[in-house]
Amino acid sequence: YHAKHHNQKAMLFHSQMYEQVSERMNVERHLYHAINNRETERPFTLYYQPQIDTRTGKTKGLEALIRWQHSDWGFVPPNKFIPIAEENGLIIPLGKWILLEACQEMKKMQETEGYCLPISVNLSPRQIAQDDFVEMVETILTETGIDPKFLVLEITETVVMEWIDSSVEKLEQLKKLGVKIALDDFGEKYSSLGYLMKLPIDIVKIDKSFIQNVHEDGGIKKILNKMINLIQHLELEVLIEGVETNEQLAFLQKQKCHFVQGFLFSRPLPIHKLIGCTPVQNT
Ligand code: C2E
Ligand code: MG
Ligand code: MG
Ligand code: MG
Repeated sequence: YHAKHHNQKAMLFHSQMYEQVSERMNVERHLYHAINNRETERPFTLYYQPQIDTRTGKTKGLEALIRWQHSDWGFVPPNKFIPIAEENGLIIPLGKWILLEACQEMKKMQETEGYCLPISVNLSPRQIAQDDFVEMVETILTETGIDPKFLVLEITETVVMEWIDSSVEKLEQLKKLGVKIALDDFGEKYSSLGYLMKLPIDIVKIDKSFIQNVHEDGGIKKILNKMINLIQHLELEVLIEGVETNEQLAFLQKQKCHFVQGFLFSRPLPIHKLIGCTPVQNT
């Protein structure tokens, strides 16, 4: 009985693994197709989520978030395919497309609205590691003709962890182009304060897990308060992600945290649903 029981478990485990592996391969295959046909089939779109100034309630910038609409599966969330694209290298052509698309959107905004909101674009570690990454950004800036100060590049701690010295150098080259750098999901994993001092960054985005656990634990309030003060003390901008309730907003206003992002204000939306519908703050 024992052996049989054990065997069944092993088989169950195997079949689950098999399903996971084959699902992954399936996603990979479709992703490959989607990326190769991105211009004709337009399977990807960028949605945008407003970043709000808590002092005025106005939109001070947008974050671009990719959406994949699959003809059979429907909407595939980025967490399902970005890590795969990062592993197999498809993030290189996809990431370039995302950057170009976001810059073209800014250009259009400038032309039709007469103002430009800064747009934040998420980068993956593998993109930045490319030798010609800085050149690629420069080419896109030149081709679209947008003012580089409107482009914000979001990196995560993972980017930096693996190669701190070369990444500092690369970020410095990017900053020379005139773009801004934001450290995304700060505190999600390692929350090393050392990075904050070493890296040439402009903005720190505190991971949504902090504000979302504030109600449960008085300790988190204290930690958030200290983090906000420390970041501001380093003369960096601080933005809190994942603000969903008025209580959370009130708490952050009390902390003098000036920038927030979250479902309380808006979910990520297609650009036409935001532009002209949202009071904006020109800078
Ligand atoms: P992220 O860059 O930290 O983006 C924020 C995520 O939090 C987005 O999920 C957004 O929809 C979600 N969010 C915003 N406000 C709230 C809120 O109030 N509550 C909750 N629960 N969630 C909120 P999304 O769009 O599913 O993206 C997930 C992650 O996928 C992103 O995290 C980013 O790491 C990655 N990603 C998305 N778009 C891109 C892209 O264009 N390029 C790259 N490399 N990664 C991307
Ligand atoms: Mg982000
Ligand atoms: Mg984030
Ligand atoms: Mg994230």
